[in-house]
Amino acid sequence: MKEIVIATKNPGKLREIEEALRGMDLKVLSLKDFPSLPPIEEDERTFRGNALKKARIVAHHTGRLTIADDSGLEVDFLGGDPGVHSARFAGEEASDVDNNRKLLQLLEGVSPSQRKASFRCVIAVAGPQGRETSVEGECRGIIGDKERGEQGFGYDPLFFLPELGKTLAELPLEEKNRVSHRGKALAALKKVLGDFL
Ligand code: IMP
Repeated sequence: MKEIVIATKNPGKLREIEEALRGMDLKVLSLKDFPSLPPIEEDERTFRGNALKKARIVAHHTGRLTIADDSGLEVDFLGGDPGVHSARFAGEEASDVDNNRKLLQLLEGVSPSQRKASFRCVIAVAGPQGRETSVEGECRGIIGDKERGEQGFGYDPLFFLPELGKTLAELPLEEKNRVSHRGKALAALKKVLGDFL
């Protein structure tokens, strides 16, 4: 069975990617299987840049086909912030709770029509011999004025989908993967992955 490394330490992302790859006859490994790998600084200015950087380095070090996700939230009212800084929006060691609190504070008093936002996800694939590509997905929604739902991770409890009347945190994993930025990128990934196997 072919092996593939998912280059993430984020358990939320890992769950969603594993679920999407299920049934593809792949042995899925993660960074936990390679504890000696050095941490990778996400210092590129774009999701694509960071995703490719992570996939390249991990493919090179592990000698295995690797996929890496870089993703984040872009809020229209905040000029696209927090963007590539989504994980560290409220500071270097910020938790999801801290980041969500900061977002709510910055949008206090802002009307629903001005609270539009996008989740964006780029997934990069890299082979150990240097072959690489990337795919993307986007999900539009509205930042709510309080957290709703217990599922998902990160900003999910604040990301409201008007067409479903729910936040992403109110959707079971499978349903989130059907509509989310990562789910869309994963669907695109499945179309190109065959060329790498
Ligand atoms: P990074 O891609 O590891 O740099 O961090 C992405 C950050 O964006 C996460 O820590 C979350 O804060 C946020 N994010 C990305 N995708 C999602 C999602 O599907 N739901 C909620 N938050 C997300």
